[in-house]
Amino acid sequence: MREFVIGFVRVERKIKLCGMMMLAIAMVFCPRAVMGQVNDPYAAEYPEHEMARMIDSMRKKFANKPTSERVLKQLQTGNRNFINQHIENLRVNRETLERATIADQSQYAIASILACSDSRVPVELIFDQGILSVFVNRVAGNVAGVTQLGSLEYGLAHLYTPVFLVLGHERCGAVQAAIDVLDNKNIPLEENIPALVENIKPAVLRANQMHPAATGEDLLHIAVEENVYQQIAQSFYISPITRELSRKNLVRVIGAVYNLNDGTVRWLPEEKIAEIRDQIDRDPFSVKVEYQFPNLRVPMKESPLTSQLVKAAPSGEELAEQQDQNAYPLSHASKQTVPIHRSVGFWIAFSIITLLVASLIALIIIVYVKWIRNMKPSA
Ligand SMILES: [Zn+2]
Repeated sequence: MREFVIGFVRVERKIKLCGMMMLAIAMVFCPRAVMGQVNDPYAAEYPEHEMARMIDSMRKKFANKPTSERVLKQLQTGNRNFINQHIENLRVNRETLERATIADQSQYAIASILACSDSRVPVELIFDQGILSVFVNRVAGNVAGVTQLGSLEYGLAHLYTPVFLVLGHERCGAVQAAIDVLDNKNIPLEENIPALVENIKPAVLRANQMHPAATGEDLLHIAVEENVYQQIAQSFYISPITRELSRKNLVRVIGAVYNLNDGTVRWLPEEKIAEIRDQIDRDPFSVKVEYQFPNLRVPMKESPLTSQLVKAAPSGEELAEQQDQNAYPLSHASKQTVPIHRSVGFWIAFSIITLLVASLIALIIIVYVKWIRNMKPSA
């Protein structure tokens, strides 16, 4: 019996060893094959004609948006307006509010923006963008968690914004908190803050590796920039539609850092962003190791819905000519003509004023005619 048990354990060990070796070979040679296979629960529910309708709608909506170049120019112009204190698009009156209640925001939104909650970074203000222009997601440390991506995917794939901007800012308290935690500074954090800070720690570790001598404000400055790349990488990693839209040039993914001191926005090089996206497609595990995403599942392969929709859609280049022709004027939303629903009170006031004006004109005509008649006998 004893020999039988020992023999069984030995055989079991061999089987385990073989299994582990096969798994290791699979992980080394075919990383794509072990990526998360996603059973899209929604894909099966869309019949062919419904998919065709969705693709057609996506084509039209993207074609009716300005090109990403124009959007970027609009944000840059808006930032200059903010710095020069010549804000143009933020005026809100009854008309703009009424327009917002009836407008379809997918016609107007030009950028999906992930920014920090910091009260010193009011996104619409620093880009001089009025109502309906930008779809904004603000969270401390501009962290791209699953819920933020759920929101941003709506901005990208349902509001068809041609730009996705991740905006960090200098002297970010959330990034500083990650630095302090890694320095083992004994700062008491409330229960839910550590989970947030976890998303930023890898950026600080990378900043430390890249510039071992940097400390204090210098380290924070580098870590803030690294955190923008960190959150872009995380967005691509967990959101296949973001990768697809970016690859097809339907959405331009941009990183930037806002300077609290002078109100300027520093735009980060876009080559690195494309590299991250391509690396996730090529070798997702190397990206997971490099960016050390906390508690994230394996990256999602294209979901059937995503790949069908985006692959069938025209590319950004194909749409570019159409877009330039159809594009809204740069300061679009605040100056668009949209039919406005007037209230009953408005129409009553309008009628009374019209009656008064008409009576006044009639009175003037009568007085004038009488004056002419009085003139005749003397002539
Ligand atoms: Zn911040």
